Amino acid sequence: MSGFKKTALITGIAGQDGGYLAEFLIKKGYNVHGLVRWDSYMNPADGMARLAMLGLTDAALTLHQGDVTDAQSVTQLLKEVRPQEIYNLAAMSQVGVSFKTPAATLDINTKGTLAILDSIRLLDMERSVRMYQASSSEMFGSAPAPQDENTPFMPCSPYGVAKLASYWLARTYRDAYGIHVSNGILFNHESPARGEDFVTRKITKAVASIEAGSREVLRLGNLDSIRDWGHARDYVEGMWLMLQQERPDDYVLATGQAYSVREFVERAFEQIGIQVAWSGTGVEETGRDKRTGRLLVSVDPAFFRPKDVNHLLGNARKAQDALNWLPKYYFDDLVADMVNADRMLLWREAGGDAVWKMTG
Ligand code: GDP
Repeated sequence: MSGFKKTALITGIAGQDGGYLAEFLIKKGYNVHGLVRWDSYMNPADGMARLAMLGLTDAALTLHQGDVTDAQSVTQLLKEVRPQEIYNLAAMSQVGVSFKTPAATLDINTKGTLAILDSIRLLDMERSVRMYQASSSEMFGSAPAPQDENTPFMPCSPYGVAKLASYWLARTYRDAYGIHVSNGILFNHESPARGEDFVTRKITKAVASIEAGSREVLRLGNLDSIRDWGHARDYVEGMWLMLQQERPDDYVLATGQAYSVREFVERAFEQIGIQVAWSGTGVEETGRDKRTGRLLVSVDPAFFRPKDVNHLLGNARKAQDALNWLPKYYFDDLVADMVNADRMLLWREAGGDAVWKMTG
């Protein structure tokens, strides 16, 4: 079957992972179709700009406007595109926001998955399509670290609960109807394309602008929270590997290393030559420039969550053994990549591109 081009459909293509996955699949020679919600078109800062940042234009992709919660439109789209692989990345992805909009979170993060699974059945595509379901380490919630595929789930947020419902829907449809659907239980994965409401990007953006002369103070919530942070670029490859297996299964993807939010702050400021000295506790805690004493970080209870997941640390042994998956980026590389990208972004915004073109 040489010359046969596989077709992939990515829901949530305008998100961080959607962009990296599209880039990855295009390089592999796939026809890539993406489902985009109306507000990703309307709000270029958060959607299409991300695809453009990765060098992906409409010409490289076929984009479809729609919504995963609209079951009929999902069925119609599958009928039209006839993909061999579906990656369900569409979600309300912010854990903090899920406490403010729990019903919408359940709707999007659960009904969307169901719409795809049911469409596969309705269209008799059980044998012709493979599906990836974006499950999350947030499903582990307060389960003790380290977590792997056998750790009991104890979600702590509407987001975690909704993702867990989708995880079980995928397993149920796999067992009941023989659908080739795999859950990727991904620990936090970040990148320069991460949304600015996530703590890592919020930190790296502030660090870059402080270096550029901003007097801002970085206001954060829970500094003690510990996460296993990897790079989205590595994780999208893991998603694809799961669908290349003969049998569907569920896999944890993680780096196996965990750091606190406080450590992320320290490492990010180190990138611009600043050492952070901490003092005080709880809401009184502050981080100052060790050399000058300037206030850099303070705690703002507005960023506390009603309930937080304190310690996520993944064990990706199964993915390593079965998929031969290993991350290329670890904590230091990730922080450096993100700070440097935010520095570059500021430089471009300040007209650096024009200067570079003239001199370079
Ligand atoms: P999550 O793990 O998917 O919830 O990713 P986030 O980046 O949103 O949050 C990671 C951790 O950082 C959580 O435990 C948050 O409570 C904590 N955190 C501390 N300060 C902040 C903040 O200002 N914004 C966000 N989003 N999280 C923060």
